[in-house]
Amino acid sequence: MFSHSKELFEQAQALLVGGVNSPVRAFRGVGGTPVFMAKGRGSKIEDEDGNVFIDYVLSWGPLILGHAHPAVVDAAVGAVKDGSSFGAPTVKEIEMARRVQSFYPSLEKMRLTSSGTEACMGAVRAARGYTGRDKIIKFEGCYHGGADYLLVKAGSGATTLGQPDSAGVPASFAEHTIVIPYNDIHALEHAFAEQGPRIAALILEPVAGNMGLILPEPGFLDAVRNLTTHYNALLIFDEVLVGFRIRGGAQGHFDIKPDLTCLGKVIGGGFPVGCYGGRAEVMAKVAPEGPVYQAGTLSGNPVAMAAGLATLEELQKPGVVDDLEARTAALVSGLKEAAKKEEAPVSFSSIGSMFCIFFRDRQPVNYTEAMQGDAQRYGRFFHAMLKRGIYLAPSAYETAFLSTAHSYEDIDKTVAAFREALKESG
Ligand SMILES: *Cc1c(COP(=O)(O)O)cnc(C)c1O
Repeated sequence: MFSHSKELFEQAQALLVGGVNSPVRAFRGVGGTPVFMAKGRGSKIEDEDGNVFIDYVLSWGPLILGHAHPAVVDAAVGAVKDGSSFGAPTVKEIEMARRVQSFYPSLEKMRLTSSGTEACMGAVRAARGYTGRDKIIKFEGCYHGGADYLLVKAGSGATTLGQPDSAGVPASFAEHTIVIPYNDIHALEHAFAEQGPRIAALILEPVAGNMGLILPEPGFLDAVRNLTTHYNALLIFDEVLVGFRIRGGAQGHFDIKPDLTCLGKVIGGGFPVGCYGGRAEVMAKVAPEGPVYQAGTLSGNPVAMAAGLATLEELQKPGVVDDLEARTAALVSGLKEAAKKEEAPVSFSSIGSMFCIFFRDRQPVNYTEAMQGDAQRYGRFFHAMLKRGIYLAPSAYETAFLSTAHSYEDIDKTVAAFREALKESG
């Protein structure tokens, strides 16, 4: 079924580290060899052997309209034809900023980048520049991209590989990073009591999507907001993953206003992008208005802007998000019912157009609990789904995504495959 992919993986391994350009893609979390993708259309992807899958990875979240949505393709192709990069301002950047602000009013001023990693680095640097303080607080299992001082107990690929702390990061680079368990208000109060006046910012995923999908417990985000305000530290919401996948963003949904917000993924419509922004007086510290330097050759790239704008425009059409969320709810309820029938020890979490299946009887509330899931069984389950034409993340610690292209027929097929895969992997 995968002979071509296997052959290609051999070739790739000779040239690319681990045969991939981002670690989780290598399938080490589930065993076996990665599937090489050839094309995507709507909810489906086709591999180099001609196998077709219903895709719940969607490039790790960005493709909220599915693959090769006609409006996105037209916009991107049009932009390429007009010149793919200028390194000078363009109208599309204004349009993008306006559109982002219409969804996220807390971004009074913003800066566009080429990745979520850069957005998080920029936000932390701006916070440090604004407060004149060094320390930051992050939570175990929250992923904020690849910056040295943020790769401390980070989720996502770092978790899959069992490397919660990356080699190559000098201890001194991480010494200003305070790490606390997610949803632990007590530990947070303690950290602020000890270090409060030295803390520049607290950065978190307001809904954590890189250790599976873990929701904030009632009161947690309020505590986060109150403590940062009390100690004059800035609150940074990293909504790179959940942005535009929860109505109003996590900040609108939970009615908490952060000082700074990081975005990415969906706003690039499948092209490289990131964005950070927030309170105007904080962003005024960023160059050229202020002394905090941050730049990028391809920042605000016209092709990414065009694809992202087409995506956001589509999402603003009446009923589109309602429909997407209804389908997600239908899928999750179908999966739950199937799990119950099979008496399988699984739990689910979901919000907006995202969901997660945990091989654990209770939904985890933090990283330690997420790690207690049965990753061995997930591996067997993953391959059982793959064989049946369902492409899930090749790791037990990731979030699954739906797109507007996922049909009720896709959902029914997925639920049927899920039931069989539970049996087969049990
Ligand atoms: C994906 C992600 C990032 C990093 O974005 P890249 O574009 O991969 O650099 C940062 N934060 C969160 C929450 C993410 O999910």
